[in-house]
Amino acid sequence: MRFPFDFTLKQAIHQAKMSRQGRRYPTVCMLEPLYTCNLACRGCSTERHTGKLSDRLSVARCLQAVEEANVPIVSVCGGEPMLYPELPELLSELIARDKYIILCTNAQLLDTKLFGIVPPDRHLFVNVHLDGMRKTQEYVCNRSGVWDRAIAMIRESKQRGYITVTNCTVFKETDVNELEELCQLLTSLDIDGIFISPGYHYESVKEDVFLTQKEIEDKFKVIREFAPKYKITATPPFLDFCCGETELDCAPYSTVNFTPKGWKAPCYLINTDRYYPDFKTFWDSVDWEYWEKHTDQRCSNCRMHSGFEQNAVAKAMQNPKEILRLAAWQFAH
Ligand code: SF4
Repeated sequence: MRFPFDFTLKQAIHQAKMSRQGRRYPTVCMLEPLYTCNLACRGCSTERHTGKLSDRLSVARCLQAVEEANVPIVSVCGGEPMLYPELPELLSELIARDKYIILCTNAQLLDTKLFGIVPPDRHLFVNVHLDGMRKTQEYVCNRSGVWDRAIAMIRESKQRGYITVTNCTVFKETDVNELEELCQLLTSLDIDGIFISPGYHYESVKEDVFLTQKEIEDKFKVIREFAPKYKITATPPFLDFCCGETELDCAPYSTVNFTPKGWKAPCYLINTDRYYPDFKTFWDSVDWEYWEKHTDQRCSNCRMHSGFEQNAVAKAMQNPKEILRLAAWQFAH
């Protein structure tokens, strides 16, 4: 199966329960306990790697946010979560609450901060940022040696029994053939999943590394061709959307973002400087109808997984042929 059965079941139960209460609900809480990082990657929003460690969230505040959002999945990112001193306590508390954790990391510190400290668990997915082969990764991360270290850490993570996945952002410079080479390498390492999504053009990033809509479509048509051979986690309807073949509303509420500044509105990508201290005020204040239409200029080239995957699947579930296609995709690997 592409995703573990318990993980899929938990999501399905959540969606069945929540959709009875309304069509808008969150499924993932993107929890950023700190805005401190050991790298400063080119495609990353500047605020995410320039913050002070002393401004980090407490474990209690993180847990309160997750409870408020009432989600089955918590994506722990930042910043670099390995630099969060209370990481073992945070992970063990989330696991105790039956939350599934996508631990997003550049992998450089996994051996000193995770391995041998937090044991593997069916709730814990180690998600390594990897945008290409050596030369590309070193360019994106602006640091030599990062690719070799990430690959060594993936190998060790698998050997130690952690569910290990990777996260790849597609930029203007991404060579899709190189991306397939990366998929082949990761498959040989017995990777548990490969997330692929087009990059979002953060206003704070001045370099021209992001894709236009046409460039996204061209690159994703090639990615969609080779996707069935690998454990790529983007669903077929989401890939169709990236290829420009279907229209979807955005669902920015599906992935809600809690940061050291509070709940970020409307989504983690847009630089609005609107943060709310509590979930209810955040949820009630955002004009979801406006953001769903993605007509705002800041949404113009966005095809992010976090905004559109939930609606891609929801739309597919209305069509028996698409349901079969999704089922075949889930059982294909
Ligand atoms: S289209 Fe993208 S940037 Fe706009 S609200 Fe949706 S996820 Fe956020």
